[in-house]
Amino acid sequence: MARGEGAVSTGERPKLAVWKFASCDGCQLSLLDLEDELLALAGAVELADFREATSRYVEGPYDLSLVEGSITTPHDAERIQDVRRASKALVTIGACATAGGVQALRNFADVDEFVAAVYASPDYISTLAASTPISAHVQVDFELNGCPIDKRQLLEVVGAFLHGRKPGIPSTSVCTECKRRGVVCVTVAHGTPCLGPVTHAGCGALCPSYNRGCYGCFGPMETPNTRALIPLLRACGLDQRGVQRVFGTFNVGAEPFTKAGGRA
Ligand code: SF4
Ligand code: SF4
Repeated sequence: MARGEGAVSTGERPKLAVWKFASCDGCQLSLLDLEDELLALAGAVELADFREATSRYVEGPYDLSLVEGSITTPHDAERIQDVRRASKALVTIGACATAGGVQALRNFADVDEFVAAVYASPDYISTLAASTPISAHVQVDFELNGCPIDKRQLLEVVGAFLHGRKPGIPSTSVCTECKRRGVVCVTVAHGTPCLGPVTHAGCGALCPSYNRGCYGCFGPMETPNTRALIPLLRACGLDQRGVQRVFGTFNVGAEPFTKAGGRA
């Protein structure tokens, strides 16, 4: 991980590092989106390595590492080992890091065919056959779901790790968020297909509150009963291909959604 001379740590605050692997950067941006809390956060931690925000960096070890993105290249498979060794606690942020992301669709196809179709000189491309979550490579201390993650949940997780307590992140479904907000169920009211009953809470039932079905951005909840949901999705008008498509997005690599979509 050496890359020139780093800045000197003040040694007064816990060191926070943010790492990027195969991803769109949207989850890292959630940290910068914490407009009201960002200054307080920057005062509480030393931003030791966060290339989305600053070129300044401080050598590890780091008290907390936030890891965005999935592992898709041999180089990244080595780099995540370095990150783990340099981190006291490691938290993955977002669907890419926790489930392999939408790029995990490659896991169900021939990646060499994609490479040959996209690149003029495929010989220069070094890639793995599958996109895998960080937990498939190193020990992960906590996984924060979402595509992108929710900035309030991120703040909760960072605060919890800095204070040595368990993050207060609910493991229930999006349906519980509809009930709490008083959002009318789009499936019951309009027959709209919705993945909310099997999807991890965290978005605040964003899509149902705008009369749309849940897309499953936050991945499978703790005990997802996808077998019970599929007949309901079919009754709402989805054919078999439609069911495969709704489970084949950001969290297609999460086992319950892989299976529900008929890919395993
Ligand atoms: S989980 Fe979604 S928002 Fe976050 S980096 Fe991956 S694609 Fe981007
Ligand atoms: S709209 Fe979706 S998430 Fe909300 S209660 Fe109905 S099924 Fe559950």
